[in-house]
Amino acid sequence: MELRNDEWDDISDSELLHIEIDPHCSDHPPQPSCSGTVTRKDIPSSPSSLHRTEECLDKRIIERDEERGEKRKRNSEGGHSPLLRFMKRHLSVTQLCEQTWCEMKVEYGFRKPQIRKTEKQRTEVQTGAKIHLARELEVHTVVPLHAQSREDSFAIRLLNILHMIPKLEAGKCVREIPVFGVVEGVHLKGVIDELSYNQKGELVLNELKTRRQETLPGAAQSLGHSLQVGLYKILFDGMVRGGLRREHIIDHFKLKASMALGNEIQKHSAKIGIQVTTLGELVDTLLMVLSCTDVPRIDLLQIEYRHQDSNNLIGSRVVPYDEAQLRSELQGYLAYWTGQREPRGVDIEEAWKCRMCPYDQICVWRKNRSQAPEILHTNK
Ligand code: SF4
Repeated sequence: MELRNDEWDDISDSELLHIEIDPHCSDHPPQPSCSGTVTRKDIPSSPSSLHRTEECLDKRIIERDEERGEKRKRNSEGGHSPLLRFMKRHLSVTQLCEQTWCEMKVEYGFRKPQIRKTEKQRTEVQTGAKIHLARELEVHTVVPLHAQSREDSFAIRLLNILHMIPKLEAGKCVREIPVFGVVEGVHLKGVIDELSYNQKGELVLNELKTRRQETLPGAAQSLGHSLQVGLYKILFDGMVRGGLRREHIIDHFKLKASMALGNEIQKHSAKIGIQVTTLGELVDTLLMVLSCTDVPRIDLLQIEYRHQDSNNLIGSRVVPYDEAQLRSELQGYLAYWTGQREPRGVDIEEAWKCRMCPYDQICVWRKNRSQAPEILHTNK
């Protein structure tokens, strides 16, 4: 489980993706440890600490979400692109995957933050968060750190990445890996569930999904899952290929590079061998490490479905990766975010999705669809 901070997204992408789009699917169950993975090299790993802010951040985040919800409401009539209207400096992989389910639902999520918040507070989400943390603790040690500023919050994320790179270099398994970058002109962020090496030495991304019913997901859900892991690969590969730029972090997120990091952050950085006093120095360190690392690109994308109650394996599938096709799909989704087209609701063939949607009573798309005249097709 990662830092709960709105600058990055509250919890792992997979949690939100599942909870919100699948009535039978919640979160990740405890997973066997990665001790069976093949070690590629015999390099000692870095200290095994993972950074955290304290729980008190959650309250501040909720309050800020409420304020932002109000501002977004005021901006909603502004005629700008959704990115501007909803004050998004970045998109999360989760949001893009939700879009594959229903674009109108994503739009309503911003327009009606209270409904969305209620969705997030469902028991399955809370259970999912706990399961995620339990899984993460199998391979990481948690170190609570108090973030005093946005710069501190970003620093914690960057420290997490810096901590995981040597582990990957040593052929170890890592979980909850923050990834980010600019793809098709838009800043994206996400959190990869797990990376480990298989017996062939391939770097495998494993996304674990748990389901309330012991069945595999249908095509509509699988579409979002495939997009999710594909985007993770694009982001991760971009990072380890040295594709990140200083301005992607500092300028885009309007961070103060010269601002001194909090005492706790500085002390912990020093403890794990990273001597920095400002966020700018930390960003430079990260970029240098990423440009030098020999961590490979992800070779295999895999999704594992498990039954939440029994933890039985329902099935797993390898997701094919075609970057050109993925980018083309992404462009289609981003056209909504950048204001090139209006949001779309679900087609009549997928009207069943509306029955489980929290916005079904207010959704204009649904209303218009139900009022549309039936068309009778006759042969001439
Ligand atoms: S009611 Fe249907 S079309 Fe409207 S947001 Fe929900 S799923 Fe989408």
